[in-house]
Amino acid sequence: MVPNTISERLFHRAQAVIPGGVNSPVRSCRSVGTTPFFVKRALGCRLEDEDGRIYLDYVGSWGPLILGHAHPRVVEAVRFAATQGTSYGIPCRMEVELAEKVVSMVPSMEMVRMVNSGTEATMSAIRLARGYTGRPKVIKFDGCYHGHSDGLLVKGGSGLATLGIPGSPGVPPEVVAHTLSLPYNDLDAVETALKAYGETVACIIVEPVAGNMGTVIPKPEFLPGLRRLCDTYGSLLIFDEVITGFRLAPGGAQERFAVRPDLTCLGKIIGGGLPVGAYGGRRDIMEKVAPLGDVYQAGTLSGNPLAMAAGFAMLQELSEPGIYESLEKKGEALEAGLREAARLADVPLTINRIGSMGTAFFTDKEVSDFASALQANTAAYGVFYREMLARGVYLAPSQFESFFVSTAHDREDLDRTAQAALESLRVVKTVAGS
Ligand code: PMP
Repeated sequence: MVPNTISERLFHRAQAVIPGGVNSPVRSCRSVGTTPFFVKRALGCRLEDEDGRIYLDYVGSWGPLILGHAHPRVVEAVRFAATQGTSYGIPCRMEVELAEKVVSMVPSMEMVRMVNSGTEATMSAIRLARGYTGRPKVIKFDGCYHGHSDGLLVKGGSGLATLGIPGSPGVPPEVVAHTLSLPYNDLDAVETALKAYGETVACIIVEPVAGNMGTVIPKPEFLPGLRRLCDTYGSLLIFDEVITGFRLAPGGAQERFAVRPDLTCLGKIIGGGLPVGAYGGRRDIMEKVAPLGDVYQAGTLSGNPLAMAAGFAMLQELSEPGIYESLEKKGEALEAGLREAARLADVPLTINRIGSMGTAFFTDKEVSDFASALQANTAAYGVFYREMLARGVYLAPSQFESFFVSTAHDREDLDRTAQAALESLRVVKTVAGS
């Protein structure tokens, strides 16, 4: 293909020097049969690409930008912080202020350690759970993503307790031998696994609302059941709230579902759009982390002053009254618009939404776990993605991701999105025959 647009030319250059032309695989847009546009700048809920096209953004950098792009409070905090030095490698005030803020918003986190990404947060929390319990095994769930550390890159196996199969070349089988992957929302499978391996299970790690197989909402008994089973078998419960933290409520999914995990992993929103992750939880467990305890974990740029300032400004803004009520209403309005569009276009969609996140699955079946998510018609989603993009609406370039609404989306944006969805679904109907 001869590159025509500036984005295409940049992608061409990128492919020569960056694997696949991207620094994270899903950005390549392969699964929706297209190539990426390159962003020039972004403001509020809008992105502008290098060719001057404007898109309504429902990805929000995969979750962090709950206040939209370049929010003035965050920009000002970063601007000021930059004038004071960009990294110290020794303690600074902003680390304390952000940690205090996190602890006040997420009560189960009595202590917190800052890292630089969600991957680091989950990897460190698992090491800590193993160090604290002295047990080797980890239970995760099919379709949940916890970053790309070796031990968590395990393919979802079907059926009961599937012992770790590496999900990527480069991960030796021994490294994932202690990782069990079970179907989401299936407490019986967890109980059976714990009966078999209970004495050796350090922790259960779960996305309390899954975002990485598309949005999948826990059944009412699932999270309380995990809590109960962890207590029975002496395993720790880790909530990976990298997406849901500060998204579903000030205190994340654990506040919304009133279940208290032992450890919580955070990322995305906590950094205000800069690279931050964090893990924290019960004081007696966190006191095992070096230098207080013997579980080692460190980071040259951890607690970086720019990132701390951005995160603190973000969390302060999110503490203003009415933010979550307004996000809920916007999420509802988007869902209603999509449902109506699907009805009018006569395309079966299963829409899972909670607060300001959700997924429209191209299936008429309930989606409650990875197996049911995989029944969605990905070809139809690809058509939908491309048609929406052509109408100036940017959705996640994969069926198995979530949309995110920000405080910057207004009623008119949501109405425009519903109209674009109707037109796009009509095309899906003719092309994909769904
Ligand atoms: N956990 C969850 C639930 C995530 O959604 C992600 C990233 N999408 C991660 C962990 C990994 O975070 P990061 O990409 O910042 O390493």
